[in-house]
Amino acid sequence: MKAGKSNLTRELKRLFRSMSFVSRHPSLNRRGVQAERFAEIYQQLGMLWEFLALQCRHTEGWRKTREGKVACKLCGTIRGVTERWVLLPRDGKKTIGRKLFPNSGETFPNKKAATIVDDTIDFHGATVNVDVHNSYRSRLFQRSKLDLSVAAERIVRVEEGDIECWLDTRLAKLTLRKHKRGERPPYGAFLFELPKRALKRFPILVEYDARGKLVGVTIFRPIPLKRRRKTVQQASPAKLAPIRAPRSSRRTNILGGSRS
Ligand SMILES: [Zn+2]
Repeated sequence: MKAGKSNLTRELKRLFRSMSFVSRHPSLNRRGVQAERFAEIYQQLGMLWEFLALQCRHTEGWRKTREGKVACKLCGTIRGVTERWVLLPRDGKKTIGRKLFPNSGETFPNKKAATIVDDTIDFHGATVNVDVHNSYRSRLFQRSKLDLSVAAERIVRVEEGDIECWLDTRLAKLTLRKHKRGERPPYGAFLFELPKRALKRFPILVEYDARGKLVGVTIFRPIPLKRRRKTVQQASPAKLAPIRAPRSSRRTNILGGSRS
């Protein structure tokens, strides 16, 4: 770590020397090809400055600049300025940003104003999105005058292939197949609402502790269509009969039963 820091100090010193050399070059006082070339070099050195500064942890303290701003003593980064780049080590754990939460009780006029962070990373084929926002007003339909307020929330979504995992303050939700436009929306039911026959078709394992508290849910991933066809041929047809929605007719029978 120490060697890395002194290396950075040396690199920055060399860079600053080059920058002041270029900026003070007499050709910059005249117009012409050479002046343009030096201006270009200065721009490129500025780019290098930006990348070197990314390695700086800004732990050397801060100094006041002539413009009254506060800059890092080592790399010269102005405090509070948002950096355009993120530097990540190739090996080991990568860290981008801090864990953020909603930070205001106010309701903002729109999502953009309420957003604290909405960032996505594609990480070795998996997509992670973090969306942290304060409460904001939103219109359910574009033309309706009905405003509804969306609660402040921290939402984390992980996507791997077709499967999406949604995590917010109240929900941990897994979607195995996304709802397509124009498709009938999926049904929803609590486990206890479903008949055993239906439950047998859902490969869900619920884990609970000795006190009867839920500690985990395991979903066995659905078999891809190609392989499923084979299994269908082998399985008995009775087991694969479609699940019927809770029959309202049955209920009316019960109600009607007392009359007869
Ligand atoms: Zn610094």
